[in-house]
Amino acid sequence: MARDAVPRDWKTGMIEIGPRIFAYVQATGETGISNSGLIVGHEAAIAVDALMVPSMTRRLVAAIKRTTRKPIGRLINTHHHLDHTGGNRLFRGATVIATEKCRETLAPGFPPVPLLQRFMPGFAREFPLLRVVLPTLTFPDRLVIHDGDREIQLWHPGATAHTPGDATVFLPKERVLFAGDLAFHYVTPLAFQGHVGNWIKAADRLLTYAADVIVPGHGPIGTKKDLKLMRDYLAFVRREARKRFEAGIPAEAAAREIKLGVYASWREAERILPNVARCYQEFRNETDKPMDLGWMIDGMERLRAGAAGHACL
Ligand SMILES: [Zn+2]
Ligand SMILES: [Zn+2]
Repeated sequence: MARDAVPRDWKTGMIEIGPRIFAYVQATGETGISNSGLIVGHEAAIAVDALMVPSMTRRLVAAIKRTTRKPIGRLINTHHHLDHTGGNRLFRGATVIATEKCRETLAPGFPPVPLLQRFMPGFAREFPLLRVVLPTLTFPDRLVIHDGDREIQLWHPGATAHTPGDATVFLPKERVLFAGDLAFHYVTPLAFQGHVGNWIKAADRLLTYAADVIVPGHGPIGTKKDLKLMRDYLAFVRREARKRFEAGIPAEAAAREIKLGVYASWREAERILPNVARCYQEFRNETDKPMDLGWMIDGMERLRAGAAGHACL
């Protein structure tokens, strides 16, 4: 398989990736369709991320129950995004663990329902059912969970990368890394609340981990090779954005101009727009300004329409 070929045969389901360690992967990884994890301990199990709408989380919980009889004692949220925390309330009785920044960013609530319905029309009916459940155990940069002889290391990059409160979950002995949305495999990463420069640094750090299996937030299970491809995409976008920023080209025109090459085959390629816009904010030192989601959704639609037009020529 070519180094950049998009895998074709991955599907939704629970996959064993280590001793009593599982990944619940959802095909095909686009907006709102994320992955989850399960670490089965001696007394109880730990889930990594809760997915988004109730129908989705119910399928995940059913898959967990088919995999283990142990109760889910803890749930880790890798960051505040809806597709990782929306299902928190279906993990009743579990201690919800996240970074301090994740809790802080989730506290004001999910984006307004009409906006979510426009952004992800396929789940429109279920968005009004969502309720925020905040993490109850938080940590600044690091936390280690000792479960019998198993060690589970939680790490926050120390600055905004994909979001302000990202965390990864690493099992050093088993060489398994749950990277949350710091890793997207063959799905275009989305930095609308991120900092692309820091995200590249965080990815570089994760690439030094002794991990054989990487579970991304979106896309199929992979290895460092797949994470490296995503890191290279971010570096490419930042480099191309920088040239156009310095030439005074507006963000949307820059996004339209950049030739994605191999990355054009990744899902949601139109995320180039928020990614470039976020790089521009970074160059101006304005990453604390939230991106206008309405503008982002409209702009991505325009870009998609433009790409479809090209394909017809
Ligand atoms: Zn996600
Ligand atoms: Zn995310």
